[in-house]
Amino acid sequence: PEPSCTDLNASLRKILIFASQHRGGKDIEKKLELQEDLPPVYVDAKQMQQVFLNLFLNAVQAMPQGGTLTVRSTLVREDGGDRIRVLVNDTGQGIPPNILEKIFTPFFTTKAQGTGLGLAISHRLIAQQGGKLSVASEDGVGTTFTVELPAYCPRP
Ligand code: ADP
Ligand code: MG
Repeated sequence: PEPSCTDLNASLRKILIFASQHRGGKDIEKKLELQEDLPPVYVDAKQMQQVFLNLFLNAVQAMPQGGTLTVRSTLVREDGGDRIRVLVNDTGQGIPPNILEKIFTPFFTTKAQGTGLGLAISHRLIAQQGGKLSVASEDGVGTTFTVELPAYCPRP
C-alpha cells in the first residue's frame, strides 16, 4: 500500500460514476451529499476506491427493482481525533440478522455468482488504515454501511 493525502470526496464522485455505469439499466436514483472542504485522509487511494466500488455495487445489486443510493460524507469532531465518516445507504432488500453477522467473513456470499470477498477485504483494508467499516440494516427496508477514517494527514 502507498498511502498519500487523499480527498475522499473526489474518490467518491469518481467511483460513483463508474458504478452507475454498471447498474444494469436499473432505475437507481443517486443522492450525493458530500460535506465541502473535508480534510484529506492518509490512505492508499486505489484501495479506497476498491472499497467504495464494492459497497456501491453491493448496493446496486440489493435493489433489483431500482431504488435510491445515498452517499454522504461528513467530518465528525471527536475527542480522540477528528474522523471522516462516509455513509452508503440503499433502499434494497436489507439483510436479516442471521446473515448480517456473517457478511464480513471471507467467502460468505448469498449470490449465485458472488465471491464473498468484497466486504471481508474492505473490512481489513479500512482497519489497516486506522479506520472501521460497520453496517446497519433493516430487513426489507435497506442497508447502511459506514466507513470511518482518521481525518489525518502527515505534513510533507
Ligand atoms: P459478494 O458481493 O461477492 O456476495 P460481499 O463480501 O461484497 O460478497 O458481500 C457479502 C454478502 O453480504 C452478500 O452476498 C450479501 O448477502 C450481503 N450484502 C452485502 N451488501 C449488501 C447490501 N447492500 N444489501 C443487502 N445485502 C448485502
Ligand atoms: Mg460484493
